[in-house]
Amino acid sequence: MPRKVQSQSRFIPYARGFRAPSKKVKQKALIGHGECSSHISKEFADGEHFESVQKCQSIDDWLANVKENGQTYAQFINNCPWLSTRKWRKVNMKFVPSGETIHEKYPDGKIYIIPVGDLTTGLNNNLCILDVDDIIEYCQIFLGLPVVTLPAVSLVRNNGKVLWLEDKVGSRKKRQTTSVVLPSRYDKRSNHYQLHVAAVLEKLRKSLPDDAICLLGLTMYDLYEDDADLFVAGMAAGNHRVGLFSLFRYNPRLAFSKEYWYDITEIDSILKIPHNELMLQRGCKLVVHEICHLLGIDHCIFYLCCMNGSGHLEEDFRQPMFLCPIDLRKLHQLCGFDIIQRYEQLRGFFGKHHMEKECLWLERRLDFLRKG
Ligand SMILES: [Zn+2]
Ligand SMILES: [Zn+2]
Repeated sequence: MPRKVQSQSRFIPYARGFRAPSKKVKQKALIGHGECSSHISKEFADGEHFESVQKCQSIDDWLANVKENGQTYAQFINNCPWLSTRKWRKVNMKFVPSGETIHEKYPDGKIYIIPVGDLTTGLNNNLCILDVDDIIEYCQIFLGLPVVTLPAVSLVRNNGKVLWLEDKVGSRKKRQTTSVVLPSRYDKRSNHYQLHVAAVLEKLRKSLPDDAICLLGLTMYDLYEDDADLFVAGMAAGNHRVGLFSLFRYNPRLAFSKEYWYDITEIDSILKIPHNELMLQRGCKLVVHEICHLLGIDHCIFYLCCMNGSGHLEEDFRQPMFLCPIDLRKLHQLCGFDIIQRYEQLRGFFGKHHMEKECLWLERRLDFLRKG
């Protein structure tokens, strides 16, 4: 007699007080103050191309732990400092109050990305190919804003310590390289390092160019904040327009212990994981998610969307690359791109990097938008 098999699916409730939004709530979230829903352009119609937020699959899922309120389009327009008719106090660049988009208000503004250490090195100096130029290209298409890379910060590992090297002009105008020890932790047996996220973020704040809308540091170093942390994905200081995020745990050839921060194993490369593409895809999604936060867009609760919060890596990996209609409308208002042209360019990017699922979605969406 076969034994009765217990159902694998365990009900995991949302965080207390959170309710998945109804269709009506989603429709209201798309509308600005004093607008009528019939005036919303087809480009923001959901057209059944966007899925609703899902039930929690793990107790660590974001919505099982955080009672997110969600940010409507109207709330974003009201609160986004980049859309205010007053210049952002902390920004030191030309400001045009009558401008409608961020580019019209701050014509010199740019998004900066700075590699912190070498981005092509993974665990134990094994190569992990990630071309920062691909990430820049993706951000530029996704945001419709100029995205610029700053020269990489030089980090050196030395005897269990990590040094930040800086070129300075010393006495008699001679260039000198100075080094600063970064707060970090090191496990000798595994030869694994983690950098203290807040300490590096503080140093990045000092590198913020005057014409920066924001500066995002990317590193292949693993990060932590408190001694009890396994790791942290990164940290942002929205008020200071700076963030630092790690790509280390996005490497599909690594497996991580849930108990010890330094316990990391390399998965046999015979597994034929197209790791460069996965790495690029995960990196692109992270970077635009974090930049959208720095631009004032909060976590999304309305649809499956690349602005959903994530409580752990698996949840992060299963989230889509695209913005839902509500967040697309926010970004469009802020950046003023042509939506069809942007989708076509994204189609070109995903095609070039063999991301077929994304290409198929874009083709369906473009078909829908071009009809009528
Ligand atoms: Zn987030
Ligand atoms: Zn969304």
